Amino acid sequence: MKKGYFGNYGGRFVPETLIPALQELDQAFRDASHDAGFKEELRLLQQTYIGRPTPLYFASRLTERLKGAKVYLKREDLCHTGAHKLNNALGQAMLAKVMGKKRIIAETGAGQHGVATATGASITGLECDIYMGTEDMRRQALNVFRMKLLGARVIEVNKGSKTLKDAINESLRDWTTNVTDTHYVLGTVFGPHPFPTIVKYFQSVIGREARKQIIKAENRLPDYLIACVGGGSNAMGLFNAFLKDKVGMVGVEAGGEGIRSGKHAARFAGGSVGVFQGCKSYLLQDRDGNVLSTHSVSAGLDYASVGPEHAFLHDSKRVRYTYATDKEALRAFELLPEVEGIIPALESAHAIAEAVKLAPGLSKKDIIIVNLSGRGDKDVQHVARIKGTEI
Ligand SMILES: *Cc1c(COP(=O)(O)O)cnc(C)c1O
Repeated sequence: MKKGYFGNYGGRFVPETLIPALQELDQAFRDASHDAGFKEELRLLQQTYIGRPTPLYFASRLTERLKGAKVYLKREDLCHTGAHKLNNALGQAMLAKVMGKKRIIAETGAGQHGVATATGASITGLECDIYMGTEDMRRQALNVFRMKLLGARVIEVNKGSKTLKDAINESLRDWTTNVTDTHYVLGTVFGPHPFPTIVKYFQSVIGREARKQIIKAENRLPDYLIACVGGGSNAMGLFNAFLKDKVGMVGVEAGGEGIRSGKHAARFAGGSVGVFQGCKSYLLQDRDGNVLSTHSVSAGLDYASVGPEHAFLHDSKRVRYTYATDKEALRAFELLPEVEGIIPALESAHAIAEAVKLAPGLSKKDIIIVNLSGRGDKDVQHVARIKGTEI
């Protein structure tokens, strides 16, 4: 495969000025990933700071309810800061440190990646600036305050739609100007090469652990893996360790109010191939190539494009991509605490919704692992409002 590509997808569609920075990053990453000292330091912080390995939990009551395959949950919701995102943000902060950078920057939509990056900056002693759209800052005031507590500066982006994609553009602009002392912590398996590869590397710990854990519990590999797909990092993190095995994989996108409504973020069901924010992948766009606005009840899945490796896994049919609607995700959001005492993130609820559809048609001997990418505390107020409960 061409370097930096997954089949036809990926690449480096950026201004000439950014190429040296991407080359430097690529080299530093390759050195670090072969450096025993770096790997040991990462392993130790994963264990003592993030709280790894996260448990693989047999959801016996959910299994009973669904009357089919056994359902296991990979508990990324138990990571420090409440989701898988810190696996990547911490890894990249350590990488920035090794590269001699003094400052890290990141974009954030709902604020989750901003909080994870600010956390990574705090424990590595780096300065941190987070770009966030005005509209998102208003909606996510609590996360803005969190980032400030963590010592980060939150820079308001009052341009365009005043949301995530404008924040990404501003981060790229900042990085172009300040590349000598600044590293840009991209939040998912997206953007120009080598970001999709770097983020996959730091998230792959999820699947490596899950593989060992399921073999210990069941003495065999699972039949299916399910993960939600925003940019696609928690899904790649789980899938990567099983790609060469006979294991079925399902990626679940945000179906929003349904594909025909146009209000969704299902890039495979409703999109086509295009170039956006540094790489080639599937994209929600109109006939003239204008990027469409997206919708999901869950902010973390609400993005117009998807990681290029997922585009490759889609076309090669190695992974099946489907979607859960807002309604289905909200139902799963209520089901899991009721039967298992776990409130999932709305993103993760999309993966649970797919397990609810898949498990009943399988045999009781079949095994499904669902990636529970994050906890739902951040979404409780949002869901209460949708249900008409004032809190
Ligand atoms: C951000 C987020 C996602 C979506 O991002 P991916 O890169 O697709 O994993 C999913 N779940 C949670 C809990 C998140 O915070």
